[in-house]
Amino acid sequence: MPDVPQCISFDVGGTLIEPWPSVGAVYADAARCLGIQADGAELNQRFAASWIDARKKPGGFDYSRSAWKELVRSTFGEALPPALLEGVFESIWHRFERPDVWKVHSDVLPTLELLRTRCIRLTVLSNWDERLRPLLYRLGLADFFEDIVVSGEVGRHKPDPALFEYAVHRWAVDASSILHVGDSEREDLQGPIAVGWRSVLIDRTGSKRTNSIVQLDDLIRWIG
Ligand SMILES: [Mg+2]
Repeated sequence: MPDVPQCISFDVGGTLIEPWPSVGAVYADAARCLGIQADGAELNQRFAASWIDARKKPGGFDYSRSAWKELVRSTFGEALPPALLEGVFESIWHRFERPDVWKVHSDVLPTLELLRTRCIRLTVLSNWDERLRPLLYRLGLADFFEDIVVSGEVGRHKPDPALFEYAVHRWAVDASSILHVGDSEREDLQGPIAVGWRSVLIDRTGSKRTNSIVQLDDLIRWIG
């Protein structure tokens, strides 16, 4: 059984919260308000493909407004006339600031409550943009965390070691006493290990990978 960590660092998207009811549904609703009919399920598939492509590009996805706008453009493709891109993008950008388009996983609050009683420092380390901190407040999650590090504000994104090193310095804690939990193998499992942190992958699909948990409350048993 590993030592109990001094600090647990959480990824956000896919770990604590998910778009609700789906990215595609939110995109379709924003488009409908501007007179464009689009199918949410189809947009969801197109978004997934565009998201993979965007992250493969040299330099990766930088979580800037322009990067998100390009993702909106490529997700809609020809269904969105160029003259309407700005309006649809602005609508989508602001929709994802709202708590009603996100679902907090049911195991999140009980787990954070329990960890708080164990006096473990809780932090966030997320690839996101300036909308994250206000969103976590609106979702009632921000007060659990002593610090929220947002990659877009630092200008470095997981798995860039510079972001993890920035967080270690900011939190004034030994790298080896931090446990990071997240849903991306590259960003949340391998990235932290490369800089001497411990990490655990949350795999809510339950495909039972080594070193993974299926729900967040499994973290309690995992840390001992
Ligand atoms: Mg994630």
